[in-house]
Amino acid sequence: MDQHVLIVESTLREGEQFAGARFTPADKQKIALALDRLGVPYIEISSPAASARAFEDATMLAGLGLRARLLAHVRCVPADVRRALEAGVHGVNLYFGLSPLLRAHGHRRDVDGIIAAATECAGLVRAAGREARFGCEDAFRTPEADLLRVCAALDEAGVDRLSLADTVGVATPRRVDELVRLVRRNIRPGTDIEFHGHDDSGCAVANAHAAVEAGARLVNTSVLGLGERNGITGLGAFLARLYACDPALARGYDLARVRELDNMVAAMAGVPVPFNAVVSGANAFSHAAGAHTAAVLRDPHTYEALDPAVFGATRTLHVGHHLTGRHAVAGRATALGLDLDGASLETATAAVKAAAGDGPLDDAALDSIVRAYGAPHPQPLSLTAGEGLGVRGAARREPAPEGRGQGPAPEGAEQLPCPDPSRSVPFHALSSAGSVS
Ligand SMILES: [Zn+2]
Repeated sequence: MDQHVLIVESTLREGEQFAGARFTPADKQKIALALDRLGVPYIEISSPAASARAFEDATMLAGLGLRARLLAHVRCVPADVRRALEAGVHGVNLYFGLSPLLRAHGHRRDVDGIIAAATECAGLVRAAGREARFGCEDAFRTPEADLLRVCAALDEAGVDRLSLADTVGVATPRRVDELVRLVRRNIRPGTDIEFHGHDDSGCAVANAHAAVEAGARLVNTSVLGLGERNGITGLGAFLARLYACDPALARGYDLARVRELDNMVAAMAGVPVPFNAVVSGANAFSHAAGAHTAAVLRDPHTYEALDPAVFGATRTLHVGHHLTGRHAVAGRATALGLDLDGASLETATAAVKAAAGDGPLDDAALDSIVRAYGAPHPQPLSLTAGEGLGVRGAARREPAPEGRGQGPAPEGAEQLPCPDPSRSVPFHALSSAGSVS
């Protein structure tokens, strides 16, 4: 595993707890295979002891021969641990609620009782030669003294890693930073720290990133963040966060597979991909305002943190928009093999803005305006998607609420080659490279 951050992908455990989600065995197999292709090193599944179905699914997944290691999320109950080991998983993710609230209203054990049960179960896992993790549920509402005592005891018992869970999404990046560093200082250097964060107040991705910066090596994610209530750190969003910080941090993960995975799991869970989903949102890589499109045509980095090509996406410039500008209209004219001189470009741009006043134009409407003002280009140019100029025709916004905000960018959009993030490639370099389309 040469990844900088080890993702423990929990769509098949936390994601199963998303209200309404019910993955069939075939769904689980597809999800596990897709996660494996994307490169996640760990896949967490529900406890094989939960039901006969859960046990069968666990053995099926364990038999797939995945590159990823399979971890079962299991209560600190010896019989449950034995059942998980029997299913053939590579490791067991033990957990216990540590906060006073969970102790009082959940399992009703004191700290000594938690340590006794957890160390016994960790011993069973270690004796079987499997990986053992202990998860501190609700760590961020647990007195630090209690948390450190439990962590020290399980560290002593030989677990491979300790997980700090922000179970109800109350933590902030600063608090995550403090707590991860505190635990880090109090456990052995070889014991890893894992972070699990819920998104109740919108900080799950930022908190996971803060945990990594503070020394956590493993982060729990799920596809689109599916999980209890409004979920946890989303896989695609977290990978995008790492990439935006430094592409090297996301090495080992096939980022171009994120959108396909998001769309597949959303369909299985019966939910739309949110319009603003990081990476997979319908407009994640589109630009509409004239100033933005003009700048992006000169250098995509002006308004993009993520390279769409790396994420298997296409950059879209919405030319048929009431906020469009001259550069975008000129680009569309060039793509159509037309020339617009200064005056006609101004007039055509004004006509597009006026026509789009009641809503974005589709390609045909946009192109009819551009053709009305453009003269044939002296050297007719071919229209080939994916080469050279790559100005997209126009937004296609059908008045279909169900379809809005879902799925990838429309087919047929041309794309700009996205340069190496370390370089700035001026527009003229893009448009003069070989055949301009
Ligand atoms: Zn959770």
